Amino acid sequence: MLGLMQSQPLLISSLIEFAERHHGDGEIVSRRVEGDIHRYTYRDLAARSRQLANALDKEGLAFSDRVATLAWNGYRHMEMYFGVSGSGRVLHTVNPRLHPEQIAWIVNHAEDQVLCFDMSFLPLVQAVHAKCPTVKKWVALCDADKLPADTGIPGLISYEAWIAPQSSEYAWPQFDENTASSMCYTSGTTGNPKAALYSHRSTTLHAYAAALPDVMCLSARDAVLPVVPMFHVNAWGIPYSAALTGCKLVYPGPAMDGKSIYELIEAEKVTYAAGVPTVWQMMLGHMKPAGLKFSTLRRTVIGGSACPPAMIAAFQDDFGVEVLHAWGMTEMSPLGTLCTLKNKQLDLPKDEQMKIRQKQGRAIFGVDMKIVDGNGSELPWDGKTYGDLLVRGPWILETYYKGESPLIEDAQGRGWFPTGDVATIDANGFMQITDRSKDVIKSGGEWISSIDIENIAMAHPAVAMAACIGMPHPKWDERPIVAITLKQGAEVTREELLQFFEGKTAKWQIPDDVVFVEAIPLGATGKMLKTRLREQLKDYRLPGL
Ligand code: AMP
Repeated sequence: MLGLMQSQPLLISSLIEFAERHHGDGEIVSRRVEGDIHRYTYRDLAARSRQLANALDKEGLAFSDRVATLAWNGYRHMEMYFGVSGSGRVLHTVNPRLHPEQIAWIVNHAEDQVLCFDMSFLPLVQAVHAKCPTVKKWVALCDADKLPADTGIPGLISYEAWIAPQSSEYAWPQFDENTASSMCYTSGTTGNPKAALYSHRSTTLHAYAAALPDVMCLSARDAVLPVVPMFHVNAWGIPYSAALTGCKLVYPGPAMDGKSIYELIEAEKVTYAAGVPTVWQMMLGHMKPAGLKFSTLRRTVIGGSACPPAMIAAFQDDFGVEVLHAWGMTEMSPLGTLCTLKNKQLDLPKDEQMKIRQKQGRAIFGVDMKIVDGNGSELPWDGKTYGDLLVRGPWILETYYKGESPLIEDAQGRGWFPTGDVATIDANGFMQITDRSKDVIKSGGEWISSIDIENIAMAHPAVAMAACIGMPHPKWDERPIVAITLKQGAEVTREELLQFFEGKTAKWQIPDDVVFVEAIPLGATGKMLKTRLREQLKDYRLPGL
């Protein structure tokens, strides 16, 4: 017997319809590429998303055709989130920090028909447009009078000129909720990138889950600053959850430096911000020497790579901001776990709580996770045993776009996505990432977590960034070394740093060496590129070898 409730597909257009109806005057503030601050409301967003949908119809785009963006976080990008997906096309957010060759490859692989870009990326588009034959319309996300006369890009039009003649009346089409809504290519460090193709259903369910109190806890009371880019896993789903909750949104545009972010937080009374550790590193680096404080920021969600405990402590103790450590992946829309304490943990001593907060957190309803050994047998949740982390759920990838399914079947025939992360899970269900499986250091048959070593190094006051990698060793197989960048003006010797590790980890896990580097290579999403670091240090030899 079927239930007798209304059957309505979960569609992204319903989010924007809801936001317009119930939070019509809710504010969306964006720093533009032009440098000024733009303000409008969810009502404006909804109307302009409909104009965009009409423009796409006029362009003759078919259902499920791909529309690409090369854009910062801002209101026009958000209009594309709703106008493109809402009208049944697929939004393809391209990461502009990738190599131009890789961008052209991705655009061709996705067969994008329209590509909309911020003016910051005009030189990039000028370099790649001739290599992208599927794109039949190039649109610059700017005012009509900001478009230079001769760009060399055939038929280039400004976004404003493109949508201006279009009506703001548009009936969002109804279709199967499993229809593709957006896509994002993984930032894979080797081989060609692979795409996760999200659906209206997966995106809407993720938006619901992300807003829950023990997840991102978004509400109409909040002013939310997603520093995490809209070109990387849909800014962790925040634009969708924002429409669902009606929170005020503040977009940083291209100004991602510590000073600009801090000023925006203060000016717009931001209560909640989301970003990767490298971004917050820059902001705290700007605030600390100047003795600056936050007036309204209360919580920040940090993920994308391990948040160093020193950063959690700095936010909490120096600035009164609660850090919510989160873990996820492009293939997971991205949220998998988030670290919030349980009721029984609230009275624990501060240092005990701190140990929990360092973990990547508890699974969100909708995400099932387990750790397994090399034979696929499930391992205990004791907080010590580590294994390969597998996940399953309605917003987790089943098959790569034009690719294969990476899923591993269990005895009941259920498919699990192998995350490539190695983790422990404790008795309370808190997961902690030990490492990417390819970054774990294998020393004398034992594993050393590079994240643990980096976390200790980052707690030293002179250290700005630390990356731990394994170096070949004839006896131990591999031994860890740690590459360090120093804070401006700070000094520390190799010996002092190695001594700093004493008593903080087992003796055999202490790195064999410290290498001082100018910069640690970062990937297109702010993650450390250890493959590149290994290449840079290919002539390095461990001391004594
Ligand atoms: P991406 O798909 O590019 O977002 O990368 C996903 C990967 O980033 C995960 O598989 C993890 O290895 C890593 N990652 C994300 N969040 C965290 C976190 N909080 N701590 C440690 N690693 C993380």
